[in-house]
Amino acid sequence: MRIPIIAANWKMHKDSQEAVDFVESLGEQLRADSVEAVVCPPHPLLGIIAEPCRTYGLKLGAQNMYWEEAGAFTGEVSPLLLKDIGVHYVIVGHSERRQLFGETDQHVARKAKAAFAHDLTPIICVGETQQERQSGQTMSVISEQVTVALTGLDPSQARKAVIAYEPVWAIGSGQAATGTDAAQVAQHIRKVLGEMFSLKLARDVRIQYGGSVKPDNIQEFMREPEIDGALVGGASLDADLFAGIVHNAL
Ligand code: 13P
Repeated sequence: MRIPIIAANWKMHKDSQEAVDFVESLGEQLRADSVEAVVCPPHPLLGIIAEPCRTYGLKLGAQNMYWEEAGAFTGEVSPLLLKDIGVHYVIVGHSERRQLFGETDQHVARKAKAAFAHDLTPIICVGETQQERQSGQTMSVISEQVTVALTGLDPSQARKAVIAYEPVWAIGSGQAATGTDAAQVAQHIRKVLGEMFSLKLARDVRIQYGGSVKPDNIQEFMREPEIDGALVGGASLDADLFAGIVHNAL
């Protein structure tokens, strides 16, 4: 049984008051829901919303981390620290990290491994660019990203990973993929997982879609049996909109 997981990726938005207000408003609106809702604020806000998130049964996620536990790594944040302040999930390999900060598949693999080593669950992002899609490389790009990111993981870990399929061209563009296209890629991800691990494991892993998800298109993705949730950017900044996405996902 795969429990749906809808995550809010705030990226570099919100201050402390806005963050607390969001959590309280979302928490009040979601009380009876059976979806896992995750809030991923910028690092300095994690500790500030940890307690309100706990109160409302919302999970806390980080947007990035480094793979070492401690040391001379100026500006980085360790998995130990994230765990210490109550974080459950950590996004790794978001396309913005890959494109703007030079993150490679190997970096993503080290981060995913470090997350599991510290009892954090990675949300591993994969996705093709517009150019890669147009030149018919979508499936090969996804295969490579998934294979490298999960290589070296124990099956007991890989089973718990969340994979977010985020086509780069759909992020922040208002142009979401179709449910059918996203489901095809999700199916392909399960095929890769089946070859790497087992068919059983491929069926257990949760796969999210991300890219211009809104309350009025979430159903198109959730009605696809291969898709288990969403990773939401822009529409996750407003508690009412994000609550609408979670409600409509059910
Ligand atoms: P948008 O929902 O703004 O397209 O962003 C998607 C995303 O990057 C989530 O990680």
